[in-house]
Amino acid sequence: MQPNETTQVAFLGLGAMGRPMAANLAARWPTTVWNRTTSVAEAHAAEHGSRAALELAEVAGAQVVCTCLPTDVEVAALATALGPQLAPGTVWIDHTSGDPAGARDVAALLAGYDVGYLDAPVSGGTDGAHRGALTVMVGGDAEDLAAVTPVLDAVAARVVHVGDVGAGMAVKAVNNALLATSLWAAAEGLTALAAQGVAPQAALEVIAGSTGRSFATETLIPDRVLDRSFPHTFALALLAKDVRLAGSVLAGAEVDAPVLHLIEQLTSAAAVELEGADHVELVRVVERAVGVELSSLE
Ligand code: NDP
Repeated sequence: MQPNETTQVAFLGLGAMGRPMAANLAARWPTTVWNRTTSVAEAHAAEHGSRAALELAEVAGAQVVCTCLPTDVEVAALATALGPQLAPGTVWIDHTSGDPAGARDVAALLAGYDVGYLDAPVSGGTDGAHRGALTVMVGGDAEDLAAVTPVLDAVAARVVHVGDVGAGMAVKAVNNALLATSLWAAAEGLTALAAQGVAPQAALEVIAGSTGRSFATETLIPDRVLDRSFPHTFALALLAKDVRLAGSVLAGAEVDAPVLHLIEQLTSAAAVELEGADHVELVRVVERAVGVELSSLE
């Protein structure tokens, strides 16, 4: 399969990430979108020039099928329903952050229909998705990846082939465990400093030029915590899911990982405590324990 101007792309799952990713695809390729709540697909078509599929079967003519769903469980259900209808040689690009073992199961299922499968989770958040500047970590066959790279280029600034099927999911899980760790640790350090009279902005200015900096201290806390906006871009429940998956990756390698296991427990408990929250609201749990809010507001 070599994409050309007639290649049909399908995108299933128009959530916070899927909507802008599918919009960037529709700007370059004939793109059919499907979403469980069909009104979202219809609104996408009206706004971005994609074609809305009201039934799943309507995407069966695509040569490239992309998914971005909560977990591998939802992907497996769609692959079971759609797999028999896809033409041999179709490539399925799964942008979901899922379980590596689940990705291998879906790959085996689709291989039975001669459909290629790449696990291709993404990093860069909704902002990166809007800009078409995501990082994509890909597990699977190198030839399938080479074939769909022109399609991935519509959503990505960086595509890295990290190994066999499941490897992309494993890297994504570990990345997000590191995100949760740095966010939680930064909240602990900054609330302790604030309790002792150091303004968070001053501490962050120092950390920005020092070795303790992270995405949490450079972007998340300055842009979303200090102004108390906590925009909803990535559900805390999804982050907790990713950190749990990282725990499975570590266990699979029999790595004793006390820090990441503690973060797994803390993040899972926070997701229960703050149901429906954004991931950055992890900070609120630390603030409540310390009795200090990180704020630049008067
Ligand atoms: P959202 O919760 O915003 O969207 C979820 C999507 O999945 C919606 O389109 C929803 O449809 C659909 N869906 C949910 N359950 C089902 C089901 N049973 N069957 C079919 N469709 C279903 O999620 P995000 O877009 O934030 O995340 C999607 C994936 O991307 C996750 O794996 C997440 O971890 C990952 N991710 C998210 C990032 C972010 O910043 N948000 C960044 C990087 C990765 P409906 O509209 O009907 O509810």
